[in-house]
Amino acid sequence: MSCIFCDIVSGIGKAEILFEDDSTISFLDIRPLNFGHSLVIPKNHYNNFYDVADKDLSSVIKATQFLTNCIKTSLNPDGINIISNNGSSAGQTIYHFHFHIIPRFKNDHFTFRPQFKDYSEGLMKEFAEKIRSAIDSSKGK
Ligand code: AMP
Ligand code: ZN
Repeated sequence: MSCIFCDIVSGIGKAEILFEDDSTISFLDIRPLNFGHSLVIPKNHYNNFYDVADKDLSSVIKATQFLTNCIKTSLNPDGINIISNNGSSAGQTIYHFHFHIIPRFKNDHFTFRPQFKDYSEGLMKEFAEKIRSAIDSSKGK
């Protein structure tokens, strides 16, 4: 299976690498929402967030926090979004798990304006119960 992010990990694919350690690597996104938009990935291949192994997950989260702070210091943004898209409906285009780190600036014209929904009577509880039932059946696994 070919994967352009695995190619970056192995050195076959070119990228503007920011740092790497034994289990993670980070590089600039080639189509940035703002300059400095970066990606952090585990070196091991996982299609998305759902199935990342504990050890890689904690390394990636630590690396993401580290790089976020370095972007904050170096680029002095007004804010930073950390995003993971999972599945095509959520905007995922590369199926090798990654976090986006997106520096944000006042008036940067990057807009995400969701249409918020209202829960009708009882619906909030219904959704919470569905999720809690999955939590209960996952416990101890
Ligand atoms: P997503 O849509 O969440 O799967 O994000 C994939 C991201 O990877 C996009 O923002 C792309 O611009 C970026 N991307 C795709 N190919 C490369 C590459 N070769 N080097 C750096 N970033 C890439
Ligand atoms: Zn991969």
